[in-house]
Amino acid sequence: MTGWRRGPERSQGPYSGFAFAPAARISDDGPVSGDVPSWTNGVARLAVLTGAGISTDSGIPDFRGPSGLWTRNPGAERMATFAVYVGDPAIRRRSWQARLEHPIWSAVPNDAHKALARIGEVTDTWVITQNIDGLHQRGGSPADRVLELHGTMFGAVCVGCGDRTEMAAALDRVRNGEVDPACLRCGGILKSATVMFGQTLDSLVLAKAARVAQECDLMLAIGSTLTVEPAASLCAVAVEFGASLVIVNRDPTPYDDIATEVISEPIGVAVPRIADQLLARSAPS
Ligand code: ZN
Repeated sequence: MTGWRRGPERSQGPYSGFAFAPAARISDDGPVSGDVPSWTNGVARLAVLTGAGISTDSGIPDFRGPSGLWTRNPGAERMATFAVYVGDPAIRRRSWQARLEHPIWSAVPNDAHKALARIGEVTDTWVITQNIDGLHQRGGSPADRVLELHGTMFGAVCVGCGDRTEMAAALDRVRNGEVDPACLRCGGILKSATVMFGQTLDSLVLAKAARVAQECDLMLAIGSTLTVEPAASLCAVAVEFGASLVIVNRDPTPYDDIATEVISEPIGVAVPRIADQLLARSAPS
């Protein structure tokens, strides 16, 4: 099987295989009180797709927003490019310093992460995330229900032998003076256990995510610009297989036209409310 490869900046354009009525758009004022949307009905299987926007309330900057990492510092994207990282020791030294100071280590889950965990307690829920911050698991979602499409910052992996270790141990070595710690098993180059640009996504994780998208009744896409493939096209897969698609994102996405509803309210407001609505639907009457 040919793997999906993370490319550099990459608007793939909207999925155009379907013609749907334009999505209802909820204003910043939110829906009328007590107006529970019909797409909360009969959700036995929920798929959630999350991007950087869900973690900004936890203090982790997104990539492409107005104050995003790559908007302010285009050079940072080079550090996340595999060939550059492997080929340039200076980039690796900078990367290790950046990892030491990464806001992930002090971030805590926010209300949206916790709300999704609440839904997962009563509804068959899978979380597919583009994030590498581990906040879904720390917010209460079971680790075996979180599919990390782009890997995790909490692991380190050797480019040479594939040995996988804890990031914390590698960072300790950096603090103790190793500017570019090598694999303790083979001496190869170490990196975070994340999928860099130019690397192939884990085919097993991706296949599982595609199956989750096919089998869900509702796909909630939260805080993703839906411009990075293949994550974004999972929305089209869900719709193609009959699910409702609800998008919660500050800005328009290429998939808004096939969504049942598009919500542009702050994620920290919208997601807890959606959780309450889903939980109310699933409560015994
Ligand atoms: Zn190694």
